[in-house]
Amino acid sequence: MDATFKPPVFQSIVEASTIAHIVINSVGKIEYLNTCAEEIFYYSKKELSGREIVTLFPQRCHSGFWAFLQTFILQSGKLKTATNNELYALRKDGTEFLVEVGISFVGNDTEDSLLLLTFIDKTEREKASEQFRLVVESAPNAIILVDYSGRIIMVNKQTEILFGYRRNELIGERMEIFVPKRLKKRHPTLRQHFYNNSHARPMGAGRDLYGLMKDGTEVPIEIGLNPIEKDGTHFVLASIIDITERKKTEDAIRLYTKRIEAKNKELEQFTYIASHDLREPLNSISSLIELFVENESHSLDKEALKQLEYIAKSSTRMKELVKGLLDYARLGKNAEFKETDLNQIVELAKDDLELSIKDAGAEIEIQKLPVLNVLEIEIRLLFQNLISNAIKYRNPGVAPKIKISANKVKGGWRFAVEDNGIGIPSNQKEKIFIIFQRLHGRNEYEGIGIGLSHCRKIVELHDGKIWVDSELNNGSTFYFFIPIK
Ligand code: ADP
Repeated sequence: MDATFKPPVFQSIVEASTIAHIVINSVGKIEYLNTCAEEIFYYSKKELSGREIVTLFPQRCHSGFWAFLQTFILQSGKLKTATNNELYALRKDGTEFLVEVGISFVGNDTEDSLLLLTFIDKTEREKASEQFRLVVESAPNAIILVDYSGRIIMVNKQTEILFGYRRNELIGERMEIFVPKRLKKRHPTLRQHFYNNSHARPMGAGRDLYGLMKDGTEVPIEIGLNPIEKDGTHFVLASIIDITERKKTEDAIRLYTKRIEAKNKELEQFTYIASHDLREPLNSISSLIELFVENESHSLDKEALKQLEYIAKSSTRMKELVKGLLDYARLGKNAEFKETDLNQIVELAKDDLELSIKDAGAEIEIQKLPVLNVLEIEIRLLFQNLISNAIKYRNPGVAPKIKISANKVKGGWRFAVEDNGIGIPSNQKEKIFIIFQRLHGRNEYEGIGIGLSHCRKIVELHDGKIWVDSELNNGSTFYFFIPIK
């Protein structure tokens, strides 16, 4: 038989195979090889015909290969397929590669029957597993492979660094070596629970996890668990990160937030008390001036009366400012969230502004608004402030046109109050939301500069935000976003 011999059965399958197949006779001579064998050994079928199979192995491997064949033949009664073996194979050009060789009888397993050898080039497989090993080794996480009895099979470099053990101190040990004493007893049960219900997931959701280092100290850690299976055996791959730094930052942020909250409360309290207590002496000043002017106007000259008028005006303004402050401090106090139909709220706000709407000849278009869980009185005040500003900051001689709308967006609702008024310069869009900040003198437009800061506080009480889109002389649209809780 020559190397172009074509076994009648499955010939086309063998030819198409991506595994090299070589048939040898009982004295080890090549009878047949498929195309893949030609490709991996660089020989043609003709060249190998009748040659000894050991041609395809380097000299040092010959005895090993014969021994491998021998073992197979000796076990032939019991085994049809030989256990795979690892060998180096030799190409025509003298280069070597690692192969996995499989062996089985072709036809009757009698002494002079043919043997089929399969060759798989393991170099690529080895390369891939070497790359995988490198990735695991250089991973920033500690990676630990554990079998189902809880024994450690593999650890990477980071595991040694994190827990302070050397690799050989860990392999074969129980996973509980990393578990703090107080939890050691419970851990095997938890482990069993994971095995019974295993899917990739973080461990100990909602609990603070700690790992025990070799020196007895504990580190806060985060653990991801992945069940894996290899050749029918189940393992768990644990990926562990040291979260000491993250915990420190989180703790610092928590402390900082607490302090800010306390300071904010203190400040609010201060504003409330100060504005509340300032009202009384201010009221007295106003009343005294009124009385004084009433009783003494005949004895005062024009200049003195004018000055008294200034004092009266200033104290009235001061009263307004103090009231604004007090209202600001009071916003949201004892308020409760409830389901509120915002269509009705806007109608009520409009009713409150009836006079100024009429005076200015304002047109207000209101689109359908949602029903939301909000602070009712505060939200009414918010719409009232925005509508009254839209009327107040109109272009002289132009009737205000106002449009109120709401759009469902990701996480909540975005409202818009649009006007055709004087607009806002782009560099002032942030400033207008700050308390007592105004862009105009009182002789141009009445006001104390507190309406929009109220609006901002109200929106923030709902965990939302407010902003404006505007161009000078070209109208403004005030937007605010209310998240759905
Ligand atoms: P006030 O109206 O009492 O000044 P606000 O806090 O309500 O206080 O507004 C702050 C400033 O923002 C106003 O002085 C005005 O310059 C500007 N502003 C507010 N609303 C509008 C608007 N709809 N169009 C143009 N400018 C506006």
